[in-house]
Parts: sequence; structure tokens; C-alpha cells
Amino acid sequence: MLTIEWTQTEGWRAPAIQPYQNLALDPASCVFHYGFECFEGMKAYKDKAGKVRLFRPDKNMERFNKSAACIALPTFSSPALIELLSRFVKLEERFIPEKRGYSLYLRPTMIGTQKTLGVSPPGSALLFVIASPVGPYFPLGFKAVSLEATDHAVRAWPGGVGDKKLGANYAPCVLPQLEAASRGFQQNLWLFGPEQYITEVGTMNLFVAIRDKETGQKELITAPLDGTILEGVTRDSILSLAREKLVPEGWRVSERKLTMASLSEASEEGRLMEVFGAGTAAIVSPVRTISWKGKPVDCGLSEHEESGEIALRMKGWIEGRQYGDEEHEWSYVC
Ligand code: PMP
Repeated sequence: MLTIEWTQTEGWRAPAIQPYQNLALDPASCVFHYGFECFEGMKAYKDKAGKVRLFRPDKNMERFNKSAACIALPTFSSPALIELLSRFVKLEERFIPEKRGYSLYLRPTMIGTQKTLGVSPPGSALLFVIASPVGPYFPLGFKAVSLEATDHAVRAWPGGVGDKKLGANYAPCVLPQLEAASRGFQQNLWLFGPEQYITEVGTMNLFVAIRDKETGQKELITAPLDGTILEGVTRDSILSLAREKLVPEGWRVSERKLTMASLSEASEEGRLMEVFGAGTAAIVSPVRTISWKGKPVDCGLSEHEESGEIALRMKGWIEGRQYGDEEHEWSYVC
């Protein structure tokens, strides 16, 4: 693990890479009482030549700093932390499986360690990074999931912190997910407000491909970054790839609000082409149906299909850049 301590008086101390071990913390540490915790999720990949690569680490570092700043934790120089991550993954290179779809998952975390039961900005903090080898999310190929639209609970709200990666955002989401699971759904789809806007799915951003009612124009849609949506690195990569590769094919790419009712209408009229989640763990996760008001909304896959074409192509393009098949500025060679 990589650890770096911070105190208000001394600033950041020297980083250390040490064997994975327990942390010794005072029970009054503010992380245990008021949720002073933020984290990141990213991966290190090994390319065909054996070189170790990170995927858009600058994006994760930017988000990490935004999350830390919003709970009064210190920030860390983004290029310096990328350099430290790079040294860490090179040192632990033996834990990065070489096969396609495999990687070393990295969990940068920051906690407030100040011993106090008063609610105040932490005067001390610990930044640490742990890691674990991971295999493909769909080891046997894509398996489209069924979602339950959740309207009784809200993941994030305007003026809140749902766009930050705070631990405090995640614990309250587990119960609605468990309830959806008890009814046989793999994930829940978070709707927002009386309009029932589609926001995110579980812990992924959501993409919807629709054909326009009047013009037949094909459109790839995801929710806009209005403060209630996590700024997913995969989301940003998909938008960028869509503008680069799908727009020339005649697609429209939109960051706009979409209601569950209009998605359902598109489904009924045969205009819903595909729906998929997007995040670091799976890259893309195709959706078969969404249960809404107790009825299934069909998401455009035929009975024998496990993925739509856009999700499949996106996965290929992103993996190509993650594993360095295509030399690209998104891939950071350690
Ligand atoms: N939304 C939420 C709520 C998440 O936790 C994640 C995972 N970090 C994502 C979206 C996807 O983000 P990314 O593409 O950066 O993994």
C-alpha cells in the first residue's frame, strides 16, 4: 500500500510504499463519526509488450481532489500523485495479470484522522492506495441486466454532493439496491424528481440510444453534469468517442435530461435502440429491461442478444486505448 500522511501544521509528509497492513486509528478519528472519507476507482493495465499503463489518471486525480476539497480534506498535486501511483504499480507489477480484460484495480482513498468529536475541518488526514488484481466483469461475455427504476429513494439532489466520490454517498444506496435484488433485479435505476428523470444506474452512468419520433435521427443520450451525476471517466470517454466516431456516421450525441416516460414511449414505439451502464468496473453493462411502475420496459435487445452495437463498439474502442493497442493520450505509460 501507498500511504501519505498530512497534518495542518506540516502539510504532506514523505510518501511510503509498505506491505499491506492494518491502520492504527484512534476511535475518536473524525472519519468514524462524520464520514470524512473520499475515494477513487481506477485500474492499471499491462500491454502486449509488458508495459504498465494507467487510463486517464488525470481525470481520477481531478475528481479525487474535488471530492476531498468538498469535505474539507487537503488536496494533493495531481501530477505528483500520478507519479506515485506509477511507481507503486510498477513495483507491484507482478500483480497485474497480462490477459485482456484483466487489470490491477486501484483504490486511492483519503480519510480525516483528527481525533475529535467536534464537527470541524480535519487537522490531519491519511491518503492511502490499496490494490487488487481483477478479472473481466463479464467473464463469459456480456450478460444484459434487468433494472428496477427506483423513485421512492433519491441518490443525489441539486445542491448536494452526489457528483463527488464520497463514501457517504454510497452506504445509503445499498438498501434500495438490496430491495431491487430481492425482486430479482441486478441493479436499480435512480430516477429523480416529479419528472422522473433518468440519472444513473447502481454505480454507473447511463447511456440511451434512441431514434427520433419525427425525423428518425439516431441520438446517444446521457444525463448532463448538473451536480447530481458522478463525472464518470468512462462516461467522458464514451462521449468523446461518440463525438469522434459516431457523429460522422450521422449520430447526434447529447448530454441532456431524459424522463423515464419518454424512454418508455420510445420503447413502445420501437425507437429505443439500446441502453447501457458505463463505469470503470465493466466499461459497459448492457440493459435488457427496466421495471417501471411494476411493468417491464423493453430496452431494444432481441431475445438472443446480450448487447447492443454501440455498447459493444465502445468496449472495443476503450479497451484498445486502455491496453495500448492504439497509442493514445488517454493511456499513461508508467
Ligand atoms: N456513477 C457512480 C455513482 C459511480 O460510483 C461510478 C464509479 N466510479 C460511476 C458512475 C462511473 O465512473 P467511472 O467511469 O469513473 O468509473
